[in-house]
Amino acid sequence: MYRMEHLVSGAAGFIGSHLCDRLLAEGDSVVGLDNLITGARRNLAHLAGHPKFRFIACDVTQPIDLEGRFHQVWHLASLASPKEYLAHPLETLESGSAGTRNMLEIARRDRARFLLTSTSECYGDPLEHPQVETYWGHVNPVGLRSCYDESKRYAEALTMAYHRYYGVRSNIARIFNTYGPRMALKDGRVVPAFLDQALQGQPLTIFGDGTQTRSFCYVSDMVEGLVRLASSEERLPVNLGNPVELTILEFAERIKRLMLAEMKAELPIVFEPLPEDDPQKRRPDIGKAKRVLGWEPNVALEDGLRQTVEYFKALPVTR
Ligand code: UDP
Repeated sequence: MYRMEHLVSGAAGFIGSHLCDRLLAEGDSVVGLDNLITGARRNLAHLAGHPKFRFIACDVTQPIDLEGRFHQVWHLASLASPKEYLAHPLETLESGSAGTRNMLEIARRDRARFLLTSTSECYGDPLEHPQVETYWGHVNPVGLRSCYDESKRYAEALTMAYHRYYGVRSNIARIFNTYGPRMALKDGRVVPAFLDQALQGQPLTIFGDGTQTRSFCYVSDMVEGLVRLASSEERLPVNLGNPVELTILEFAERIKRLMLAEMKAELPIVFEPLPEDDPQKRRPDIGKAKRVLGWEPNVALEDGLRQTVEYFKALPVTR
């Protein structure tokens, strides 16, 4: 049977490591790259010695001389949490620009397919709601978050240029908030932050008044969407995310309810200042993903959160 060779950047990251698992489960071979700024070796520990998996610790923003011929290149390498990209703005800009270019060059060399993981941040603090792929966004180009937003927008432009100029068979996924096991507990994003606080019996920290909205997609649903997208002929961006929208206050209440059964204690909520340019509303319109990929998320928030709690509880105690 025909087996594919995949190259995955960001392989030790949260979504990247789940993607590697999925590709290997299909019997394909995977070379995973990661510079481990935010990725963790722990996320790939279970693949040590796997005959079809090879990990290379390297920085994809530097030219990479990789042997082998790949059929599919997946560019996931990026700092994805606001806390991390604000701490590493230049690395973030580089992974979207030079990193994307280096990975596209490999796809061009090998006549491989290429998938870019872009972001809902391309829509900035959106003036249209829900966000449809045809909306061009409302991004502050010089704000704190611009290092992430603009690097991903540039990465999308680069990907389209390689497609139009060199004929690279590319796909662009605009990923909305995703959660699940292997998120970094301390990366500052709201799901690990609330679960970490809850597991320690500490108050949940809501930034602003909690009226801002997000929608949360479980990682297995996300990986399914990415895999379907990579085999589609859709070249323009496709939103992948869960359309169930919650205010952050409602989300905190869900966590409280879930953890009440778990911890047998009611968690207090405290309010802290809202970070600069924090988007007020976010919800994907997934009509295109449904139409083109036959995809929509299946995992209910409570089920996904339970899996994530189990994962965090099993982590070695570092505090
Ligand atoms: N947030 C919060 N408390 C936290 C962490 C985040 O209220 O401890 C808010 C944050 O201000 C944002 C939302 O939760 O409005 C989602 O934040 P996250 O960092 O997960 O991702 P974003 O969608 O902003 O990229």
